[in-house]
Amino acid sequence: MPLRLHESLSRTQRELRPAQPDGVFRFYNCGPTVYAPSHIGNFRSFVINDVIRRLLDLEFPGKVKHVRNLTDVDDKTIKRAQDEQRPLADVTKQWTDKFHADCDALNCLRPHVEPTATGHIKEQIDMIDVLMKKGNAYRAADGSVYFKVSSFDNYGKLSRVKERELQVGTALSHKSQAVDADEKEDATDFALWKAHKADDGSNSWDSPWGAGRPGWHIECSAMSKKHLGETIDLHTGGIDLLFPHHENEIAQSQCCNGTLFAHHWYHSEHLLVDGKKMSKSLGNLYTLDDLTAKGFSPMALRYALLAAHPRKQLNFMLESLHAAESALEKLRRIVRGYLKHGATSENGFANYWLEYRESHPAIAGQWGIAGEAWDAITLDDLNIPLALGFLFKTLDSRDLGAPGHYKFESEVANLSQLMFALGLRLFGDKPVAISASAAITALADKRWAAKQAKDFAGADALRKELAAAGWNMLDRKDGYSLEPVKK
Ligand code: AMP
Ligand code: ZN
Repeated sequence: MPLRLHESLSRTQRELRPAQPDGVFRFYNCGPTVYAPSHIGNFRSFVINDVIRRLLDLEFPGKVKHVRNLTDVDDKTIKRAQDEQRPLADVTKQWTDKFHADCDALNCLRPHVEPTATGHIKEQIDMIDVLMKKGNAYRAADGSVYFKVSSFDNYGKLSRVKERELQVGTALSHKSQAVDADEKEDATDFALWKAHKADDGSNSWDSPWGAGRPGWHIECSAMSKKHLGETIDLHTGGIDLLFPHHENEIAQSQCCNGTLFAHHWYHSEHLLVDGKKMSKSLGNLYTLDDLTAKGFSPMALRYALLAAHPRKQLNFMLESLHAAESALEKLRRIVRGYLKHGATSENGFANYWLEYRESHPAIAGQWGIAGEAWDAITLDDLNIPLALGFLFKTLDSRDLGAPGHYKFESEVANLSQLMFALGLRLFGDKPVAISASAAITALADKRWAAKQAKDFAGADALRKELAAAGWNMLDRKDGYSLEPVKK
């Protein structure tokens, strides 16, 4: 079954497919900036991306490599650390841990790799170095390095910024680029390396251009290259990242590597409050904790965030959480009705589709009762509201008091699989058991080889990478096994 999604560059719906012969689907999602709790607007984007990840897992089992970065150095993270007189790493660890806890509560799967900007300074410097050598970048008088936008003919294709004739000054205002325009040759140029300023305190790294830190955009180019290679299958983020962040990523990566950067770009729309984007800077935000303090469940938030089309703006209202709680309760009631016929227990419901698929391989992949919902999601650009409408319509027409009429087991499996795809956990807190993907196994193999070659530092680094991706590697004399990190 194909998986079709809107593609931002061509502005058409396109099928998602791995482009490389190894069949691995390479997926990069821009992650959070870790200096404060992520708000529910951020989580709209991460929950939508989590559904994409789950659909990819279903479509290309064991062949998906999902990378999501952590921006742990920029103006905001440094300012927070300086204001609180704490080491930067302490501050970003605190908010990374909180981000993970919120993601777990919202039932978002961990990416396979979650690289940090500070953990990839060398990779960023290496890319900037190539851009300098190729003439795509220059060093300004203060020691900052800028990308020369005029050196890349295709600049602006994704956002059509030239066609829209956006004012350069406003178009280039973005999250971490408080640059001094006087230092740049052209106002459209953007920072690859930012020279150390007094305000940065001890937060700087050595580079061939002097002490400083990477600009924000280069981190995603460098980390996706390191963990996914030069060309990726899908690159996603919230709509605000389309310009300039993703435009700049394309410019840096394509000029450096000389190859296509991403086959497919996807952007989800914003969560609004009173018609304005929910954002830390406007202060009009809710966090997950704000909502649980009001008595709402994280699953209700997840449901409410998914109940609108991902590419349409969603005006957030507390009432939508009441509606989401009722919808979830209705689903629970219906599923309990099914479970009376004995297919599985409430605790077994989340994993039932996996069990059923193993015992009925011939009908694996058939969506039965959830067919229309599945088509709306996969063939109609993630049309989750339409899917939920179909689902309730079909379920309302079922008479569960009449056994023998329906294939209860297969219908329970259909519902369980649809809930997995949407990440809606109806009962208990048991996450769905997943086995390590091909990418994780490849990483584990690499670590095993490094250990055999007595490269202990390399092996250690790989163990950390596996742990960040959610896997513990247990060594034996003759080999290893993998188990999910216990949360
Ligand atoms: P940040 O932590 O600011 O780097 O943002 C993390 C993600 O949240 C990015 O993909 C943003 O595009 C997305 N985002 C930020 N604000 C909103 C919002 N109000 N609604 C939806 N997504 C958002
Ligand atoms: Zn990014």
